[in-house]
Amino acid sequence: MVKQTIQIFARVKPPVRKHQQGIYSVDEDEKLIPSLEIILPRDLADGFVNNKRESYKFKFQRIFDQDANQETIFENIAKPVAGSVLAGYNGTIFAYGQTGSGKTFTITGGAERYSDRGIIPRTLSYIFEQLQKDSSKIYTTHISYLEIYNECGYDLLDPRHEASSLEDLPKVTVLEDPDQNIHLKNLTLHQATTEEEALNLLFLGDTNRMIAETPMNQASTRSHCIFTIHLSSKEPGSATVRHAKLHLVDLAGSERVAKTGVGGHLLTEAKYINLSLHYLEQVIIALSEKHRSHIPYRNSMMTSVLRDSLGGNCMTTMIATLSLEKRNLDESISTCRFAQRVALIKNEAVLNEEIDPRLVIKRLQKEIQELKDELAMVTGEQRTEALTEAELLQLEKLITSFLEDQDPESRLEVGTDMRKVHHCFHHLKKLLNDKKILENNTVSSESKDQDCREPLKEEEYRKLRDILKQRDNEINILVNMLKKEKKKAQEALHLAGMDRREFRHSQSPPFRLGNPEEGQRMRLSSAPSQAQDFSILGKRSSLLHKKIGMREEMSLGRQEAFEIFKRDHADSVTIDDNKQILKQRFSEAKALGESINEARSKIGDLKEEITQRHIQQVALGISENMAVPLMPDQQEEKLRSQLEEEKRRYKTMFTRLKALKVEIEHLQLLMDKAKVKLQKEFEVWWAEEATNLQVNSPAVNSLDHTKPFLQTSDSQHERSQLFSNKSDVNARKILPSPCPSPHSQKQSSTSTPLEDSIPKRPVSSIPLTGDSQTDSDIIAFIKARQSILQKQCLGSN
Ligand code: ADP
Ligand code: MG
Repeated sequence: MVKQTIQIFARVKPPVRKHQQGIYSVDEDEKLIPSLEIILPRDLADGFVNNKRESYKFKFQRIFDQDANQETIFENIAKPVAGSVLAGYNGTIFAYGQTGSGKTFTITGGAERYSDRGIIPRTLSYIFEQLQKDSSKIYTTHISYLEIYNECGYDLLDPRHEASSLEDLPKVTVLEDPDQNIHLKNLTLHQATTEEEALNLLFLGDTNRMIAETPMNQASTRSHCIFTIHLSSKEPGSATVRHAKLHLVDLAGSERVAKTGVGGHLLTEAKYINLSLHYLEQVIIALSEKHRSHIPYRNSMMTSVLRDSLGGNCMTTMIATLSLEKRNLDESISTCRFAQRVALIKNEAVLNEEIDPRLVIKRLQKEIQELKDELAMVTGEQRTEALTEAELLQLEKLITSFLEDQDPESRLEVGTDMRKVHHCFHHLKKLLNDKKILENNTVSSESKDQDCREPLKEEEYRKLRDILKQRDNEINILVNMLKKEKKKAQEALHLAGMDRREFRHSQSPPFRLGNPEEGQRMRLSSAPSQAQDFSILGKRSSLLHKKIGMREEMSLGRQEAFEIFKRDHADSVTIDDNKQILKQRFSEAKALGESINEARSKIGDLKEEITQRHIQQVALGISENMAVPLMPDQQEEKLRSQLEEEKRRYKTMFTRLKALKVEIEHLQLLMDKAKVKLQKEFEVWWAEEATNLQVNSPAVNSLDHTKPFLQTSDSQHERSQLFSNKSDVNARKILPSPCPSPHSQKQSSTSTPLEDSIPKRPVSSIPLTGDSQTDSDIIAFIKARQSILQKQCLGSN
């Protein structure tokens, strides 16, 4: 058991604008506990809280200032926790802080650079690396990804995400069994056998989260996300299984409602978030106060899920993320205060070991079989379960003749089979009872004689018989245990109302296999692992499927608009940059692959050369009748050192190629995610334009009337096209419509003003029209509107 208080760390985010930076200092004296001092400017201190303290000091395990990179954070915070999870203890790392302070950046990572990857991908990498190194145990890894939004739990890895909206998916609910263990109904566990598979699950969950998010709900800042790595391990042949869980938690923004100044629907949400964090705070307060018997875990879903992480069987670490800009100082102080309370909580982590009765039964059965075989060796007879009818009959005959034999020297010879000996006794007892034979003394003395004649063997038999009996008893006990366990599980299932379908669902591979085109993308792996890669690609392609599915539905006009939208979008720079990096990495990988092959063949050649030299030397020795020199000659030594050098080179390149493979995979996932995001934002913008068309038409119309100089024949013509009845077929024909006619396509490709109307960041959540005719109208409207505006500009110039 490990008793430990929750470790608290602080991470300060670099400010967006340097001059807005608040004043703080980090005191990292080696001997003392590091502390963070936040100094409030006078004007802020006046309005802040109820006292006028100007400086606040908080102690942390360690404070990571602005320049701390993701690698440092992982090495110092996450690696030790991951280490204890590998040893069989539960672990939790949670990030707490206001929106924008860097929680997601710390836990998941940035969306742009590979070096920005956060604790989750780095931990996955580390864990799988360690598992590969340790061949003494058999490990199984599963992943789950839960989002809690407005007190409802959602499974971010539910394969039905693709087909259904968030609201239609079954909610994840918390169940408690009679032993107060927490079970999460409807949360699927996905086995991940490699780092890539686990990484794919992370990205799948993140993308599902992004797709479900609307600008109105902004779930990413208002929800809590719990990414869990479930690890079980056992030694080969052992019945003891160790289970450990690692929760990596990205909490909702901790800002107070009053500050955000929201109302209505958002206020309800904010209240929920704050309620959720408020309950977390209550649990923390209750835990930090001694002698409190009741801890209000059950008040919220999040505290129920994290029950073991807080004051329970877990090694827990908190990262307080701080944005120390002037306007955020009060929230930062709140975060630090919260952390100070958290630091008082003591957890008791124990190894979660359990004995698997099935494995014990298997082992005992094996032992019984071995004992039986041993017995058969001693007796020279192969044992069956029971004596046959014929054998029994034969025995009874022997007993009868033995009893009838008047010769006092007569013996009952049944051989060394203990089953037969036992049967004789049973039968005699029965006869004795039935016929009230009084000569029992004779019989017992006879049998005693027999016992004395073969004392050693008899003792051996008895021993073996006792062991057999003992093992049979153990099996009975274990079978009963199993039955009880099964009953318990059934009761829990019944309680949960969990249907079998669900269970099967989570067991079966939840993703489709990727399309062949996708399969082409990752051909770096060596042949034996290709099958594995394919399944990974399958998962990723399901991610992309959504994206591609969205594109397929687009009308031509929309596609055109999308291309322009994409080109002007801020993220496209990132996508392009990553594309470039990917290209570089691909060519680097290709070059490395070639060098590896070269090195491999060189190694082969060198080995061959050394062997040849040996053969030559031996041949020389025979022909010249000389002994082969014991010391290798200089030439051979040179060859050997060359061989070692090549091997080293090979190993270095191989390691680099492996790392490259992970980086490429990560970059591809980042790009996929960015593309889905882009697509989503385009849809929102498009929908907004659709509404503008419906709502703003009269306004544009009237604007047009107020500009008399625009009454040229051209503009009149356009106006008549624009604002004529929609059912006017002729008008639509001459519109620069994106309908798939070569003429219109040519026209639309030359028109540029549309590009200017595309906002950098769309804001709306009006549903899409989904109707290609309306879509054509929108694009036509936008173009015509742009063209009018352009003319207005020209006119005014
Ligand atoms: P939160 O999840 O707390 O709301 P984010 O992690 O989304 O905040 O961070 C907000 C923005 O700040 C993001 O654009 C992120 O990339 C950036 N950011 C956060 N922390 C850091 C950091 N330590 N270094 C660089 N950029 C950061
Ligand atoms: Mg976030």
